[in-house]
Amino acid sequence: MAEVKPRIRPRVQPPPARRRNFDEVVQGYTAEEALAEAQRCILCRNARCQTACPLTNQIPRWIAELQQGRPQEAYRILRETSPMPELCSRLCPQERLCEGSCAIGIKHEPVAIGLLERFVSDQGRAAAAGENGATSPSKRVAAVGSGPASLALAQCLARAGQAVTVFERWPHPGGVLRWIPRFKLPREILEAHLDGLTALGVAFREKTEIREVQQLLTGEGFDAVFLGIGASRPSVPNLPGVSLEGILSSTEFLVRSCWGGPDLPNGWQPITDLAGRRVVVLGGGDSAMDCVRTAIRLGGAQVTCLYRRDEANMPGSRKEVKAAREEGAEFQFLASPAAFHSADGRSVSRVECLRMELGAPDASGRRSPQPVAGSAFETEAELVVLAFGYEVETGAVKINPATGATREQGVFAGGDCVTGPSLVSTAARAGLTAARGMLRYFAGEPWDALAG
Ligand SMILES: Cc1cc2nc3c(=O)[nH]c(=O)nc-3n(C[C@H](O)[C@H](O)[C@H](O)COP(=O)(O)OP(=O)(O)OC[C@H]3O[C@@H](n4cnc5c(N)ncnc54)[C@H](O)[C@@H]3O)c2cc1C
Repeated sequence: MAEVKPRIRPRVQPPPARRRNFDEVVQGYTAEEALAEAQRCILCRNARCQTACPLTNQIPRWIAELQQGRPQEAYRILRETSPMPELCSRLCPQERLCEGSCAIGIKHEPVAIGLLERFVSDQGRAAAAGENGATSPSKRVAAVGSGPASLALAQCLARAGQAVTVFERWPHPGGVLRWIPRFKLPREILEAHLDGLTALGVAFREKTEIREVQQLLTGEGFDAVFLGIGASRPSVPNLPGVSLEGILSSTEFLVRSCWGGPDLPNGWQPITDLAGRRVVVLGGGDSAMDCVRTAIRLGGAQVTCLYRRDEANMPGSRKEVKAAREEGAEFQFLASPAAFHSADGRSVSRVECLRMELGAPDASGRRSPQPVAGSAFETEAELVVLAFGYEVETGAVKINPATGATREQGVFAGGDCVTGPSLVSTAARAGLTAARGMLRYFAGEPWDALAG
């Protein structure tokens, strides 16, 4: 193999600056940097990066175009498989997906596929003319929920000439994308994506909670329904004092801090300033890191992440933990909450915790934490954020994974409401699968064959 040059580092906001703003942390490649990084790719045949991509993006094919200085052609190829590369390139945990499988990565740092995808999609989006949908759409489709699963389905069907209406119970569409912190996903990128769908003819009906799916089919005359209702019910531990004021789920904390603009759901008030407040975030996944990093930007006096296992057993991405630490987060590992206490009988002021030690591996294969006898200690906090993960509100929906069809005729589903919490790219893939399943249904394929 020819000499492999070092990976090109993107421009990144330095930690002291980014602690004080919500601007995107990673600022991406210039054209010269993208060209130089693209040259590191050896364009493998049977590329493992492509297999590892949930959307099976044809990575060597579009990087080859970039190597030749043709970002527009690279974008065209990327769009053949990805409905939202400008979002996935910013949000995918590439180190576990494409870059984790890169052949260069066996001996060197992997090709920066995520940053190249971001460069190509930002260039391509800026240059591409707005797409228009069909003038006389044939079938009417209702998508319930407006996260990446429904958005991918809507895009695919609108391009195929179907009329899609997306119903969202909250005041603005986007699902979780709307409250992922802006330092990871700038709001204008999401808005531009939604504008593109509107231009394609997709209709959005916000503040509309769907309770009866059958009503959409029989009452409102939709030909098919897609359930993309996500899995955003926060897991709340059953601990003494958990309902004290100042204890928020990660969903409520992130929505109130990151929604951006008026009209918050559930009548919530925005959180804009945490100056002087000590914040404890409980949990060790990516959403815990989002909360920690948001609390730092809002001026939290001391922001501590408390996690019951050790650092090596954290479920989230290493780069998120590193970024949080650079920004000033403190970590307490092998510590678990036992109760919440209040000085005034109303608001939380202290978290009672137990030290933990790691025992035998549990069902997930990770060593399970066990409390250490007599190890109780307290930590002070005026705000506690519970980031213990998410569940499906209605219980997981069952589908045929090859088509997205449920057992109920005309009803498809996909995304987190089927799989439980996953990724933007896997939710988008599920939306595409269901869209293709719907097109087969509209072409006359019997339901039993689709439902499998
Ligand atoms: C804080 C956080 C950070 C994350 N960060 C990342 C990341 O960096 N990278 C990554 O790949 N993944 C990330 N994820 C995971 C990713 O966001 C989800 O896997 C993805 O959004 C799931 O998409 P979805 O379309 O299935 O559902 P969602 O995005 O959850 O959208 C579902 C929508 O349906 C609406 N809804 C529910 N019921 C109804 C109803 N009855 N009527 C109308 N509307 C309804 C909800 O209000 C919601 O807007 C993160 C998740 C969270 C919570």
